Amino acid sequence: MSFKRFLKYTVATPYPVGPVNFYLLKADPFLVMVDSGPFSRQSIEYLEKNVDFRKIKYLLITHCHPDHYGLCDYISKKGIEVFISEKDIIKLNNNNIDKEIGYLKDAFSSFEFPENLISNIVNSIAEFEKTIPFPAKVNILEKHDFKDIEIEFEPYSYHSLSDIVYFYDNYAITGDILLNGIFQTPLIEIDLNSDKKLFDNYSAFCNTLLKMKKLYGYNILAGHGKVDNVKEAVIFYVNGILERTFRIKYFLENSFSIYEITSKILEQNAVFLRYYIKASEVLFFKNFLNDPAKLRNSLIEIGLFEHLKTKFESVISC
Ligand SMILES: [Zn+2]
Repeated sequence: MSFKRFLKYTVATPYPVGPVNFYLLKADPFLVMVDSGPFSRQSIEYLEKNVDFRKIKYLLITHCHPDHYGLCDYISKKGIEVFISEKDIIKLNNNNIDKEIGYLKDAFSSFEFPENLISNIVNSIAEFEKTIPFPAKVNILEKHDFKDIEIEFEPYSYHSLSDIVYFYDNYAITGDILLNGIFQTPLIEIDLNSDKKLFDNYSAFCNTLLKMKKLYGYNILAGHGKVDNVKEAVIFYVNGILERTFRIKYFLENSFSIYEITSKILEQNAVFLRYYIKASEVLFFKNFLNDPAKLRNSLIEIGLFEHLKTKFESVISC
């Protein structure tokens, strides 16, 4: 029987998702921190009170959403080595933000958003990214071979461009790819390394599902809340996709633009970031309706299609 080789911490965030978890892995004689909590005064106070930084050797990040990497810079300044996936380092490099914004504008144009709204949305995204300090010294996760801790990592992207799952002992630290009762929208992102630039969250989700089997045998340390069962979390998520797609299916099938559908879903005077989140959702469901077989095949492959068959067929056959 193995003893518990991690410590779990939960800290409030200023975001709708609610509190976020981060973890300290006991690697003896040092600790490894996975995720940092958000960039907020409250979060810094919590860390200073509860965490002994002298024992931490590495900070590893699951994905660069602000609730997970917000305090990277703060922690790096304590002499702790920070590791982030290469795609996130490229994305958050200050020199690349303007390029990213250009491609985001193109994407929103293709969704038929009006020009003034596009400017407001992308400026909000840029401002938001720039408020979170990025560490001057950061290591590319994929280029590092950890010799003093038996930890493995693999990309499980779809929720973001670069979700990483860390495997340590019989634990999998999964960030936001598996949550209990929270439907996390896969956000529109720009992959500067790809030809298409616009990250295809839907295809990524279908590909990542195929790797979920590996997680069945692990204890999950999730980014929010608690996940006891991988299959249940996947079923919950796919149910969310099916139900939400069903609600806008008529518009998607009748060639309404992503802008038109997003405006129908959103409340009047929604803040610009809400447009960004909802448009991301609509795009994801549009891609699903364009190629539902991809999702069905992945679900069959990991043995979960039977649980979703009735709902799945009611969404794509009527
Ligand atoms: Zn999160």
